[in-house]
Amino acid sequence: MVDEEELLRRWEKTVEQLFREGVIKSEPVRRAFLKYPRYLFVEERYKKYAHVDEPLPIPAGQTISAPHMVAIMLELADLRPGLNVLEIGTGSGWNAALISELVKTDVYTVERLPELVEFARKNLERAGVKNVHVILGDGSKGFPPKAPYDRIIVTAGAPEVPRPLIQQLNPGGKLIIPVGSYHLWQDLYIIDKTETGKIKKRRWGGVAFVPLVGEYGWNE
Ligand code: SAM
Repeated sequence: MVDEEELLRRWEKTVEQLFREGVIKSEPVRRAFLKYPRYLFVEERYKKYAHVDEPLPIPAGQTISAPHMVAIMLELADLRPGLNVLEIGTGSGWNAALISELVKTDVYTVERLPELVEFARKNLERAGVKNVHVILGDGSKGFPPKAPYDRIIVTAGAPEVPRPLIQQLNPGGKLIIPVGSYHLWQDLYIIDKTETGKIKKRRWGGVAFVPLVGEYGWNE
């Protein structure tokens, strides 16, 4: 077993490397990464690998994303204190914890697998995160009770952009979502809703996420 001090030392090195490489671009994202190290959000046996810049297994056959991927999506989302954010695909709860540190207000995150809702809630509690609300449900339909959102961040790959997510976006809001094939490759899109309600779509590049399974996603 690797002790906590060593886990933290390894994690700080990873964060500094991502910062040097320009993957982490902003001080707030760097501070959030340092506040919530990835090893707090994986099972005991994976903690010693949490600093490695690759996805890791979490329960129910799902994954916690690689640190560089999480940093890229958070930077693209351009998060600021006070924004109303919805995350789809809670997984371990790590990304939601980082979002909550950046917006400093309540964050809503939807997960379809009960086992992971429980896993994420425990991780968040242990990490001392108080403003993340983990909701069990099909996030491909969004989460109407707290809409409209300034940002929606989807951390699973969709066959196409789910219509409800566009509808639940505020004018001036952004949706970050991987869209593409069921397994392996998707393209990451940044979808802006202008102040007049027009939709503008930009492609960032290739990514690899587990599938978004649901009414507006893939069939199980
Ligand atoms: N953001 C997560 C983290 O920080 O650990 C990693 C997310 S993992 C790559 C994708 C997650 O999306 C999985 O936990 C999966 O169960 C979930 N998922 C897939 N389809 C979903 C849906 N329709 N609604 C909510 N969650 C979904």
